[in-house]
Amino acid sequence: MTLDLHTLKQMVRGILTTRPDEIGCDECFEQLDRFVEMKLAGKNAAEAMPLVQDHLERCHDCREEFEALLAALRALE
Ligand SMILES: [Zn+2]
Repeated sequence: MTLDLHTLKQMVRGILTTRPDEIGCDECFEQLDRFVEMKLAGKNAAEAMPLVQDHLERCHDCREEFEALLAALRALE
């Protein structure tokens, strides 16, 4: 049996999307302000809130919200 890249990607995606500890967009959004505050404070947000980090890496919508929030807060400083 041969595994091509597309098949591998599907498999990896299947593993990632069935992780029992993953959070959804609602939970991500609820914690996003804290996550952004930590980023701005120079703390390791990814380590402190790995589930949010994990979600942001996979969810384009939340990633955009995160970046918009980060940019807005930076502009206020
Ligand atoms: Zn999301």
